Amino acid sequence: MTPLARLIAARIRLSGPMRLDEYMRLCLLHPEHGYYATRDPFGAAGDFTTAPEISQIFGEMVGLALAQAWLDQGRPAPFTLAEIGPGRGTLMADILRAIRVVPGMAEAARVVLVEASPHLRRVQRGRLGEIAHLDDVSQLPQAPLFLVANEFFDALPIRQFQRGAQGWAERVVALDQDGGLEMGLAPAPEGDAGLPPAAEGAIRETCPEAAPIVAQVAGRIAAHGGCAILIDYGGWDGQGDTFQALRRHRPEDVLANPGEADLTAHVDFAPLALAARAAGARVSRMARQGDWLLRLGIAQRAERLAAAGDAGAMAALHRLTAPDEMGHLFKVLAFWARHAPVPAGFEPLDDDADDA
Ligand code: SAH
Repeated sequence: MTPLARLIAARIRLSGPMRLDEYMRLCLLHPEHGYYATRDPFGAAGDFTTAPEISQIFGEMVGLALAQAWLDQGRPAPFTLAEIGPGRGTLMADILRAIRVVPGMAEAARVVLVEASPHLRRVQRGRLGEIAHLDDVSQLPQAPLFLVANEFFDALPIRQFQRGAQGWAERVVALDQDGGLEMGLAPAPEGDAGLPPAAEGAIRETCPEAAPIVAQVAGRIAAHGGCAILIDYGGWDGQGDTFQALRRHRPEDVLANPGEADLTAHVDFAPLALAARAAGARVSRMARQGDWLLRLGIAQRAERLAAAGDAGAMAALHRLTAPDEMGHLFKVLAFWARHAPVPAGFEPLDDDADDA
């Protein structure tokens, strides 16, 4: 058992089965044993590789999309340039390099990173220099806000509900006969509230922290201008069990090594779009990462890099955009200030085009 598994088992013995969101939060962010609190999980030597770690070209595209939005909105200065869940700081470093081609933008940017892990904060400072860190999005300044989040929402704790003959039950972490961790079912505290009708055996996931985070960001953007781009794997309104653990690039049981594996779940973009709109922002259609990057001109950029001697550029293009690589699994959603033009590469959500 990992040290965190022993701690979780002790807690369950004391106060009963644990909801998955509490389990996931402990596994990822426990100050001593949490996955992100203790390590730098990215890259070939780590547990997974994210788009910005594949190639600079990804951050360049995101940076240019944000720069276009900043120009379209009349170059607000100063403005907040923010990232939630910045990992190694690679994406922000590439964005800052990309926006230097836009006169005045880097000078007007106040860079802030929302990061929960003290260890990754140090890694980010090593990469970006002295930089402002926030604990959560409620601390974002009341100012124009241009924001990105890549593979952040998939790390937010989820709850899972399973439809039984009598209604919905909640999936929880319980103890087996030997004191190890096993999945169990408990009565859903909210009953069937908020869960759609479903066949027996169906599983639904909810992510309680996601919509409030989007509402904070969208509220800033609605009040002060700006644009947010969210990139993650998932779909519009998914069903089924997507809770997964990844260790050394291999999937494993989510209960096998608490604190030592990355835990994620697919992101549902529909509730995020609704939360952004309810907070007063305009929302895009969800796009596939591959389609969005190609519309932004990633293929031309890769060809130029390849011609200039970047041996990995064409392989990176393939990994980021091909349907059987990241191109279709990963999705992109934007929201922005009403009355501002639609950000580059996006289309407005159909029923959101009222005052385009
Ligand atoms: N965006 C990066 C890293 C993705 S991993 C990349 O693409 O490479 C998820 C990131 O979110 C990590 O930096 C992790 O420490 C951070 N994180 C996870 N939960 C968080 C929370 N509740 N608040 C703030 N940051 C969080």
